[in-house]
Amino acid sequence: MKEFKKFDDDILSPFRSEEEQREEENLRPARTEDFIGQKQVVDQLKLFISAARKRREPLDHVLLYGPPGLGKTTLAHIIAHEMEGEIKCTSGPVLERKDDLAAILTSLKNGDVLFIDEVHRLSRIVEECLYPAMEDFKIDILIGEGPHAKSIQLELPRFTLVGATTRAGMLTSPLRTRFGITCRLQFYPDEEMFEIARRTARILKVECDDDGGAEIAKRSRGTPRIANRLLRRVRDYTQVRGDGRINGDSARAALDMFEVDHIGLDVMDRQYLLTIMDKFGGGPVGVNTIAVSLGEDQETIEDIFEPYLIQIGFLNRTPRGRVLTPHAYKHFGRKCPLQQDIFRL
Ligand code: ADP
Repeated sequence: MKEFKKFDDDILSPFRSEEEQREEENLRPARTEDFIGQKQVVDQLKLFISAARKRREPLDHVLLYGPPGLGKTTLAHIIAHEMEGEIKCTSGPVLERKDDLAAILTSLKNGDVLFIDEVHRLSRIVEECLYPAMEDFKIDILIGEGPHAKSIQLELPRFTLVGATTRAGMLTSPLRTRFGITCRLQFYPDEEMFEIARRTARILKVECDDDGGAEIAKRSRGTPRIANRLLRRVRDYTQVRGDGRINGDSARAALDMFEVDHIGLDVMDRQYLLTIMDKFGGGPVGVNTIAVSLGEDQETIEDIFEPYLIQIGFLNRTPRGRVLTPHAYKHFGRKCPLQQDIFRL
Protein backbone atom coordinates (compact mmCIF):
# COMPACT_ATOMS: atom_id res chain seq x y z
CA MET A 1 0.00 0.00 0.00
CA LYS A 2 1.14 3.48 -0.86
CA GLU A 3 2.33 5.66 1.96
CA PHE A 4 -0.35 8.05 3.14
CA LYS A 5 0.43 11.45 1.73
CA LYS A 6 -0.51 14.45 3.84
CA PHE A 7 -2.59 16.84 1.86
CA ASP A 8 -0.50 19.94 2.62
CA ASP A 9 2.42 18.48 0.64
CA ASP A 10 0.24 17.43 -2.21
CA ILE A 11 0.64 18.83 -5.69
CA LEU A 12 -3.08 19.58 -5.91
CA SER A 13 -3.28 21.17 -2.49
CA PRO A 14 -4.84 24.64 -2.53
CA PHE A 15 -2.54 25.63 0.35
CA ARG A 16 0.38 27.75 -0.83
CA SER A 17 4.06 27.81 -0.02
CA GLU A 18 5.70 31.22 0.45
CA GLU A 19 7.45 30.87 -2.91
CA GLU A 20 4.12 30.18 -4.53
CA GLN A 21 2.46 33.15 -2.85
CA ARG A 22 5.17 35.43 -4.25
CA GLU A 23 4.85 33.96 -7.73
CA GLU A 24 1.07 34.20 -7.56
CA GLU A 25 1.30 37.97 -7.29
CA ASN A 26 3.08 38.09 -10.67
CA LEU A 27 0.49 35.86 -12.26
CA ARG A 28 -2.57 37.63 -10.90
CA PRO A 29 -4.57 39.31 -13.66
CA ALA A 30 -4.83 43.00 -12.71
CA ARG A 31 -7.79 44.08 -14.87
CA THR A 32 -11.13 42.57 -15.87
CA GLU A 33 -9.84 42.20 -19.47
CA ASP A 34 -7.08 39.86 -18.27
CA PHE A 35 -9.37 37.78 -16.09
CA ILE A 36 -10.30 34.67 -18.03
CA GLY A 37 -13.78 33.11 -17.70
CA GLN A 38 -16.46 33.49 -14.98
CA LYS A 39 -18.21 35.64 -17.56
CA GLN A 40 -21.45 36.07 -15.64
CA VAL A 41 -19.70 37.20 -12.46
CA VAL A 42 -17.35 39.53 -14.33
CA ASP A 43 -20.18 41.08 -16.37
CA GLN A 44 -22.21 41.71 -13.23
CA LEU A 45 -19.28 43.24 -11.40
CA LYS A 46 -18.41 45.47 -14.35
CA LEU A 47 -21.97 46.74 -14.42
CA PHE A 48 -22.12 47.45 -10.68
CA ILE A 49 -18.69 49.09 -10.77
CA SER A 50 -19.59 51.40 -13.62
CA ALA A 51 -22.91 52.32 -11.96
CA ALA A 52 -21.14 53.09 -8.67
CA ARG A 53 -18.53 55.17 -10.48
CA LYS A 54 -21.21 57.13 -12.30
CA ARG A 55 -22.87 57.95 -8.97
CA ARG A 56 -19.43 58.68 -7.47
CA GLU A 57 -20.18 56.27 -4.67
CA PRO A 58 -18.23 53.32 -3.34
CA LEU A 59 -19.24 49.93 -4.68
CA ASP A 60 -21.66 48.02 -2.46
CA HIS A 61 -20.04 45.31 -0.30
CA VAL A 62 -19.27 42.15 -2.26
CA LEU A 63 -19.30 38.53 -1.13
CA LEU A 64 -17.36 36.09 -3.32
CA TYR A 65 -17.76 32.41 -2.67
CA GLY A 66 -16.51 29.19 -4.18
CA PRO A 67 -13.74 26.62 -3.76
CA PRO A 68 -10.14 27.77 -3.19
CA GLY A 69 -7.96 28.87 -6.10
CA LEU A 70 -10.76 30.03 -8.42
CA GLY A 71 -9.94 33.74 -8.35
CA LYS A 72 -11.67 35.36 -5.34
CA THR A 73 -8.58 37.27 -4.19
CA THR A 74 -7.81 38.18 -7.79
CA LEU A 75 -11.29 39.64 -8.26
CA ALA A 76 -10.95 41.67 -5.06
CA HIS A 77 -7.76 43.22 -6.47
CA ILE A 78 -9.50 43.86 -9.78
CA ILE A 79 -12.42 45.57 -8.03
CA ALA A 80 -10.00 47.89 -6.19
CA HIS A 81 -8.16 48.62 -9.43
CA GLU A 82 -11.37 49.40 -11.35
CA MET A 83 -12.67 51.60 -8.53
CA GLU A 84 -9.29 53.35 -8.50
CA GLY A 85 -8.87 52.60 -4.83
CA GLU A 86 -6.29 50.74 -2.83
CA ILE A 87 -6.76 47.31 -1.33
CA LYS A 88 -5.94 46.11 2.17
CA CYS A 89 -6.03 42.35 2.64
CA THR A 90 -6.62 40.37 5.80
CA SER A 91 -8.46 37.23 6.81
CA GLY A 92 -11.10 36.13 9.29
CA PRO A 93 -8.79 34.21 11.67
CA VAL A 94 -6.18 37.04 11.68
CA LEU A 95 -8.67 39.65 12.92
CA GLU A 96 -8.74 38.33 16.44
CA ARG A 97 -9.78 41.42 18.36
CA LYS A 98 -12.02 44.42 17.82
CA ASP A 99 -8.89 46.62 17.89
CA ASP A 100 -7.38 44.72 14.92
CA LEU A 101 -10.46 45.53 12.88
CA ALA A 102 -10.57 49.16 14.07
CA ALA A 103 -6.90 49.64 13.11
CA ILE A 104 -7.40 48.38 9.59
CA LEU A 105 -10.72 50.20 9.04
CA THR A 106 -9.36 53.54 10.17
CA SER A 107 -6.38 53.18 7.83
CA LEU A 108 -8.66 53.07 4.75
CA LYS A 109 -9.52 55.98 2.47
CA ASN A 110 -12.73 56.71 0.59
CA GLY A 111 -13.16 54.20 -2.26
CA ASP A 112 -10.65 51.69 -0.86
CA VAL A 113 -11.34 47.96 -0.69
CA LEU A 114 -10.98 45.91 2.46
CA PHE A 115 -10.56 42.27 1.48
CA ILE A 116 -11.34 39.71 4.19
CA ASP A 117 -10.53 36.17 3.14
CA GLU A 118 -12.22 33.32 5.03
CA VAL A 119 -14.83 35.78 6.19
CA HIS A 120 -16.86 32.91 7.70
CA ARG A 121 -14.14 32.56 10.34
CA LEU A 122 -14.48 36.00 11.94
CA SER A 123 -14.93 35.91 15.68
CA ARG A 124 -18.35 36.97 16.89
CA ILE A 125 -17.06 40.11 18.55
CA VAL A 126 -15.25 41.26 15.42
CA GLU A 127 -18.20 40.36 13.25
CA GLU A 128 -20.60 42.40 15.38
CA CYS A 129 -18.25 45.34 15.19
CA LEU A 130 -18.25 45.02 11.41
CA TYR A 131 -22.03 45.47 11.07
CA PRO A 132 -22.19 49.24 11.78
CA ALA A 133 -18.97 49.68 9.80
CA MET A 134 -20.56 48.08 6.74
CA GLU A 135 -23.92 49.71 7.14
CA ASP A 136 -23.28 53.22 8.45
CA PHE A 137 -19.49 53.54 8.04
CA LYS A 138 -19.13 54.00 11.79
CA ILE A 139 -17.24 52.15 14.46
CA ASP A 140 -17.33 52.34 18.27
CA ILE A 141 -13.96 52.27 19.96
CA LEU A 142 -12.96 52.26 23.58
CA ILE A 143 -10.46 54.89 24.68
CA GLY A 144 -8.50 54.51 27.90
CA GLU A 145 -8.64 51.72 30.42
CA GLY A 146 -10.50 50.71 33.53
CA PRO A 147 -13.09 53.06 35.07
CA HIS A 148 -11.92 56.01 32.90
CA ALA A 149 -12.43 54.16 29.64
CA LYS A 150 -15.00 55.73 27.38
CA SER A 151 -16.55 54.66 24.16
CA ILE A 152 -16.45 57.00 21.19
CA GLN A 153 -17.88 56.65 17.74
CA LEU A 154 -15.59 57.17 14.76
CA GLU A 155 -16.70 58.01 11.25
CA LEU A 156 -15.09 55.71 8.71
CA PRO A 157 -14.22 56.38 5.08
CA ARG A 158 -16.70 55.02 2.53
CA PHE A 159 -15.02 51.73 1.77
CA THR A 160 -16.08 48.51 0.04
CA LEU A 161 -15.78 45.27 1.92
CA VAL A 162 -15.00 42.29 -0.27
CA GLY A 163 -15.47 39.07 1.68
CA ALA A 164 -14.35 35.70 0.36
CA THR A 165 -15.44 32.33 1.60
CA THR A 166 -15.39 28.71 0.57
CA ARG A 167 -18.54 28.18 2.59
CA ALA A 168 -21.31 30.69 2.13
CA GLY A 169 -23.53 28.47 4.29
CA MET A 170 -21.37 29.14 7.33
CA LEU A 171 -21.87 32.88 7.24
CA THR A 172 -24.29 34.16 9.86
CA SER A 173 -27.39 35.61 8.31
CA PRO A 174 -26.83 39.18 9.66
CA LEU A 175 -23.43 39.22 7.96
CA ARG A 176 -24.65 37.66 4.72
CA THR A 177 -27.46 40.17 4.35
CA ARG A 178 -25.07 43.10 4.70
CA PHE A 179 -23.39 42.21 1.42
CA GLY A 180 -25.26 43.94 -1.41
CA ILE A 181 -23.59 41.85 -4.12
CA THR A 182 -23.03 38.11 -3.92
CA CYS A 183 -21.11 36.20 -6.60
CA ARG A 184 -20.49 32.51 -6.84
CA LEU A 185 -17.37 31.34 -8.66
CA GLN A 186 -17.58 28.07 -10.57
CA PHE A 187 -14.92 25.58 -11.66
CA TYR A 188 -13.54 26.59 -15.07
CA PRO A 189 -14.25 24.51 -18.17
CA ASP A 190 -11.26 22.96 -20.00
CA GLU A 191 -11.16 25.64 -22.74
CA GLU A 192 -10.77 28.41 -20.16
CA MET A 193 -8.23 26.39 -18.20
CA PHE A 194 -6.30 26.03 -21.44
CA GLU A 195 -6.23 29.81 -21.89
CA ILE A 196 -5.14 30.26 -18.27
CA ALA A 197 -2.32 27.70 -18.67
CA ARG A 198 -1.14 29.41 -21.86
CA ARG A 199 -1.23 32.82 -20.21
CA THR A 200 0.82 31.56 -17.24
CA ALA A 201 3.34 29.95 -19.62
CA ARG A 202 3.69 33.28 -21.43
CA ILE A 203 4.30 35.19 -18.20
CA LEU A 204 6.78 32.60 -16.91
CA LYS A 205 8.45 32.56 -20.35
CA VAL A 206 8.03 28.81 -20.70
CA GLU A 207 7.55 27.37 -24.17
CA CYS A 208 4.37 25.29 -24.11
CA ASP A 209 2.60 23.99 -27.21
CA ASP A 210 -1.19 23.52 -27.55
CA ASP A 211 -1.06 19.83 -26.74
CA GLY A 212 0.97 20.48 -23.58
CA GLY A 213 -1.33 23.33 -22.53
CA ALA A 214 -4.41 21.16 -23.09
CA GLU A 215 -2.96 18.32 -21.02
CA ILE A 216 -2.21 20.62 -18.08
CA ALA A 217 -5.65 22.26 -18.42
CA LYS A 218 -7.43 18.89 -18.39
CA ARG A 219 -5.66 17.76 -15.22
CA SER A 220 -6.05 20.99 -13.23
CA ARG A 221 -9.53 20.21 -11.86
CA GLY A 222 -11.01 23.44 -13.15
CA THR A 223 -8.84 25.51 -10.78
CA PRO A 224 -6.41 28.21 -12.01
CA ARG A 225 -4.14 27.97 -8.96
CA ILE A 226 -3.65 24.27 -9.68
CA ALA A 227 -2.99 24.93 -13.40
CA ASN A 228 -0.30 27.43 -12.43
CA ARG A 229 1.28 24.97 -10.06
CA LEU A 230 1.17 22.03 -12.48
CA LEU A 231 2.69 24.19 -15.18
CA ARG A 232 5.61 25.11 -12.92
CA ARG A 233 6.20 21.47 -11.97
CA VAL A 234 5.99 20.29 -15.59
CA ARG A 235 8.47 23.05 -16.47
CA ASP A 236 10.85 21.63 -13.82
CA TYR A 237 10.44 18.18 -15.31
CA THR A 238 11.15 19.28 -18.87
CA GLN A 239 14.14 21.36 -17.80
CA VAL A 240 15.73 18.27 -16.20
CA ARG A 241 14.56 15.51 -18.54
CA GLY A 242 14.02 17.39 -21.79
CA ASP A 243 14.87 20.63 -23.54
CA GLY A 244 12.74 22.85 -21.30
CA ARG A 245 9.86 22.98 -23.77
CA ILE A 246 6.47 21.62 -22.74
CA ASN A 247 4.58 19.47 -25.22
CA GLY A 248 1.85 16.86 -24.87
CA ASP A 249 4.24 13.98 -24.23
CA SER A 250 6.37 15.73 -21.64
CA ALA A 251 3.27 17.09 -19.85
CA ARG A 252 1.71 13.60 -19.74
CA ALA A 253 4.94 11.97 -18.54
CA ALA A 254 5.49 14.61 -15.85
CA LEU A 255 1.92 14.55 -14.57
CA ASP A 256 1.87 10.74 -14.53
CA MET A 257 5.04 10.88 -12.48
CA PHE A 258 3.37 13.32 -10.05
CA GLU A 259 0.44 10.86 -9.87
CA VAL A 260 -2.11 13.31 -11.20
CA ASP A 261 -4.35 11.20 -13.43
CA HIS A 262 -5.97 12.10 -16.76
CA ILE A 263 -8.97 13.78 -15.12
CA GLY A 264 -6.92 15.57 -12.46
CA LEU A 265 -7.44 13.21 -9.52
CA ASP A 266 -4.45 12.67 -7.29
CA VAL A 267 -3.45 10.21 -4.58
CA MET A 268 -5.68 11.77 -1.96
CA ASP A 269 -8.75 11.84 -4.21
CA ARG A 270 -8.23 8.19 -5.05
CA GLN A 271 -7.74 7.35 -1.40
CA TYR A 272 -10.95 9.21 -0.54
CA LEU A 273 -12.97 7.41 -3.22
CA LEU A 274 -11.50 3.97 -2.45
CA THR A 275 -12.18 4.44 1.26
CA ILE A 276 -15.89 4.96 0.58
CA MET A 277 -15.90 2.11 -1.95
CA ASP A 278 -14.02 -0.49 0.07
CA LYS A 279 -14.77 0.37 3.67
CA PHE A 280 -18.30 1.73 3.40
CA GLY A 281 -19.78 -0.13 0.45
CA GLY A 282 -20.02 3.06 -1.65
CA GLY A 283 -22.03 4.91 1.04
CA PRO A 284 -24.10 6.49 2.35
CA VAL A 285 -21.49 7.37 4.93
CA GLY A 286 -21.12 10.47 7.09
CA VAL A 287 -18.33 12.90 6.22
CA ASN A 288 -17.00 12.79 9.79
CA THR A 289 -16.57 9.02 9.53
CA ILE A 290 -14.66 9.41 6.25
CA ALA A 291 -12.51 12.13 7.84
CA VAL A 292 -11.54 9.89 10.76
CA SER A 293 -10.83 7.03 8.40
CA LEU A 294 -8.53 9.19 6.25
CA GLY A 295 -6.91 11.03 9.16
CA GLU A 296 -7.85 14.33 7.52
CA ASP A 297 -10.01 17.06 9.01
CA GLN A 298 -13.61 17.35 7.96
CA GLU A 299 -13.31 20.92 6.73
CA THR A 300 -10.48 20.02 4.33
CA ILE A 301 -12.53 17.17 2.95
CA GLU A 302 -15.61 19.33 2.49
CA ASP A 303 -13.75 22.32 1.04
CA ILE A 304 -11.04 20.66 -1.03
CA PHE A 305 -11.90 17.16 -2.22
CA GLU A 306 -15.63 17.02 -2.40
CA PRO A 307 -16.61 20.05 -4.51
CA TYR A 308 -14.66 18.78 -7.51
CA LEU A 309 -15.77 15.17 -7.09
CA ILE A 310 -19.37 16.38 -6.95
CA GLN A 311 -18.81 18.60 -9.98
CA ILE A 312 -17.52 15.69 -12.11
CA GLY A 313 -20.42 13.52 -10.96
CA PHE A 314 -18.45 11.01 -8.84
CA LEU A 315 -20.11 11.86 -5.55
CA ASN A 316 -23.50 12.82 -4.19
CA ARG A 317 -24.16 14.57 -0.91
CA THR A 318 -27.38 13.13 0.50
CA PRO A 319 -29.09 13.72 3.86
CA ARG A 320 -27.92 10.21 4.89
CA GLY A 321 -24.30 10.82 3.93
CA ARG A 322 -21.92 10.66 0.98
CA VAL A 323 -22.75 8.24 -1.83
CA LEU A 324 -20.54 7.31 -4.79
CA THR A 325 -22.05 7.27 -8.26
CA PRO A 326 -21.48 4.64 -10.99
CA HIS A 327 -19.01 7.11 -12.64
CA ALA A 328 -16.67 6.76 -9.67
CA TYR A 329 -16.73 2.98 -9.96
CA LYS A 330 -16.15 3.16 -13.71
CA HIS A 331 -13.07 5.31 -13.15
CA PHE A 332 -11.50 2.43 -11.21
CA GLY A 333 -12.77 -0.19 -13.69
CA ARG A 334 -15.18 -1.58 -11.11
CA LYS A 335 -18.87 -2.34 -11.18
CA CYS A 336 -21.13 -0.19 -9.05
CA PRO A 337 -22.87 -2.37 -6.38
CA LEU A 338 -26.12 -0.66 -7.20
CA GLN A 339 -25.84 -1.75 -10.84
CA GLN A 340 -24.95 -5.29 -9.77
CA ASP A 341 -28.12 -5.38 -7.66
CA ILE A 342 -30.16 -4.13 -10.57
CA PHE A 343 -28.66 -6.83 -12.80
CA ARG A 344 -29.50 -9.52 -10.24
CA LEU A 345 -33.18 -8.54 -10.11
P1 ADP B 1 -8.80 32.32 -4.38
O1 ADP B 1 -8.70 33.65 -3.70
O2 ADP B 1 -10.16 32.02 -4.89
O3 ADP B 1 -8.25 31.18 -3.55
P2 ADP B 1 -6.84 33.47 -6.20
O4 ADP B 1 -7.55 34.70 -6.63
O5 ADP B 1 -5.74 33.63 -5.20
O6 ADP B 1 -7.88 32.36 -5.70
O7 ADP B 1 -6.28 32.76 -7.54
C1 ADP B 1 -5.16 31.90 -7.53
C2 ADP B 1 -4.28 32.17 -8.73
O8 ADP B 1 -4.96 31.71 -9.88
C3 ADP B 1 -4.00 33.65 -8.98
O9 ADP B 1 -2.71 34.00 -8.61
C4 ADP B 1 -4.09 33.84 -10.48
O10 ADP B 1 -2.81 33.79 -11.04
C5 ADP B 1 -4.83 32.63 -10.95
N1 ADP B 1 -6.18 32.96 -11.44
C6 ADP B 1 -7.32 32.87 -10.75
N2 ADP B 1 -8.37 33.18 -11.52
C7 ADP B 1 -7.88 33.46 -12.75
C8 ADP B 1 -8.48 33.83 -13.99
N3 ADP B 1 -9.80 33.94 -14.11
N4 ADP B 1 -7.67 34.05 -15.05
C9 ADP B 1 -6.33 33.89 -14.93
N5 ADP B 1 -5.70 33.51 -13.78
C10 ADP B 1 -6.46 33.31 -12.70
